[in-house]
Amino acid sequence: MLEKVANGVLKGDVRSIARAISIVENNESEAEKLINILYPHTKGAYIIGLTGSPGVGKSTLADKLIAQFRGVGYNLAVLAVDPSSPFTGGAFLGDRLRMQSHALDRGVFIRSMGTRGSLGGLSPAISDAIKVLDAGGKEVLLVETVGVGQAEVDIVSTADTVVLVLVPGLGDDIQVNKAGIMEIADIFVVNKADREGVNRVVTEVRMMLDIAYGKKKNEWVPPIIKTIAEKGDGVEELVDAIGKHREYLKESGALQQRRSKRIKWELENTLQHKISRYLEEYVLHEVEVDYLEKIMRREVSNYAAAEEILGRILRKEGVVDEC
Ligand code: GDP
Repeated sequence: MLEKVANGVLKGDVRSIARAISIVENNESEAEKLINILYPHTKGAYIIGLTGSPGVGKSTLADKLIAQFRGVGYNLAVLAVDPSSPFTGGAFLGDRLRMQSHALDRGVFIRSMGTRGSLGGLSPAISDAIKVLDAGGKEVLLVETVGVGQAEVDIVSTADTVVLVLVPGLGDDIQVNKAGIMEIADIFVVNKADREGVNRVVTEVRMMLDIAYGKKKNEWVPPIIKTIAEKGDGVEELVDAIGKHREYLKESGALQQRRSKRIKWELENTLQHKISRYLEEYVLHEVEVDYLEKIMRREVSNYAAAEEILGRILRKEGVVDEC
């Protein structure tokens, strides 16, 4: 069954891609097998992270961005991620409806996701879904998050280009400086530029950027772009800025750096996850009870017990010699 889904994904079949994403969302062991098959076929799709407080116009903007990218022939996917929701599918209905203008376009794949068993960091389900889409021939992936909390920062910080959407009148501290999102933005968008106060937001962001980038030369200084997403105003400029950022990353070698950081992060997460699963099985089933009693009787401290358990595991696995 997995082989069939994987083959479908590699042919770019939309139903297979949808099925594969359901698998990575819901079934950890199947997800692992599927990614083992698909990973060698990924090509390194360009990932754009789109983030900002709820209601700032991300979905409206995403809809317009899709049209622009499709216009130049990119095979595209949008992942709308809600880190607070473990559920699949149903969420984001409003967003899906807004993006319906592309529903019949086979070059765009749109999907919302919750995050399976994530303990912070990039959820395995999302990074797996990204690999599925990449292997399925998607060249540009737009990853949209619902808010600006720590989980969202973790998600978008693995993107190649991070677009942060602000609006006039939301209040400074709500939008700005929260969870370090300002520091990871590569492009600032001030949407709802038809509203009062737009220039104030632009000035504030510019001042902040002047402080952050004032003396640094040869670095990417994030542009600030005003948009009216509903009308599509400024969207071309945004696409242009994304293109320029991509060029900058490629030429400066920063793209490679970002991606190796992502790979390292992912490998460490996966290892940690596997080790904790192993520990749960081994420690809980084989040794923990003994040690709980020893600690209770004050024969050993928690540190000494952990040290002994670790020694037993390493000997059991042949990492260190039996003595
Ligand atoms: P999201 O929660 O960030 O995805 O925001 P949405 O895309 O759902 O937009 C929230 C609301 O803002 C919707 O009612 C949009 O129609 C509206 N909206 C989006 N862009 C603009 C804009 O440029 N100007 C104005 N006035 N409203 C907008």
